[in-house]
Amino acid sequence: MKFDIITIFPEIFDSYLQESLIDRALKKGLIKIKIHNLRKWTIDRHQTVDDRPYGGGIGMVMKVEPIYRAVTALKKSKVKSQKSKVKIILFSPRGKKFNQKMAYQFSKFDQLIFICGRYEGVDERVAKYIADETISIGDYVLMGGELPAMVVIETIARLIPGVLGKPQLLKERVPALPGRAGRGFVEYPQYTRPEIFKPQKGKKWQVPKVLLSGDHKEITEWRRKRKKIIEK
Ligand code: SAH
Repeated sequence: MKFDIITIFPEIFDSYLQESLIDRALKKGLIKIKIHNLRKWTIDRHQTVDDRPYGGGIGMVMKVEPIYRAVTALKKSKVKSQKSKVKIILFSPRGKKFNQKMAYQFSKFDQLIFICGRYEGVDERVAKYIADETISIGDYVLMGGELPAMVVIETIARLIPGVLGKPQLLKERVPALPGRAGRGFVEYPQYTRPEIFKPQKGKKWQVPKVLLSGDHKEITEWRRKRKKIIEK
């Protein structure tokens, strides 16, 4: 799986790419992540990537031409096979809301090209003619598409075999509990040592007794009652 990210702030990704699991996945060649500075595809002296909005209004809008050139270049050169599956994703708060199901679908592609917006957004022709999908990571407005890109990369990367330390970390949670086994992730409350934590005098934060009981049936039932299924 190859991720190509088009951004005007490439440095934002530096520390993220050094995070241990991502770094290991990169070194093992399980994923490839390339960050591209959009200014590379500008042709004027000032490397202009934005301009004023038609129709008036405040702020600046990202221009279509450099994005078009970037996507065309990345689609052509980076993936050899003609048959490889490529998806071009634009980030926008107006996009389709990202979820686990989409992460599974995206994980089947060979190459994902992400377009990170900034300023007041991106010329709508990018959504209309260039991107295959426009994605939002939630109903709130961020300052740029870089965090959404990291969110989507991380969600997809952990689904790729070998990226998580032990394969069970991914599999175990799918059929772990009765109900809709195998159709998603099951998330339930978790505890670790100490059994009793006393943050202050007179205060006791205890681990639920059932988890210490060793009774697996009871534990499963306790977890089932509190589970949240993240649909696949
Ligand atoms: N007035 C603009 C705000 C753009 S925010 C508008 O409503 O469209 C600048 C950029 O940040 C966007 O182009 C997009 O790439 C990114 N962004 C902001 N919030 C986002 C969200 N919730 N999901 C995905 N991308 C987002």
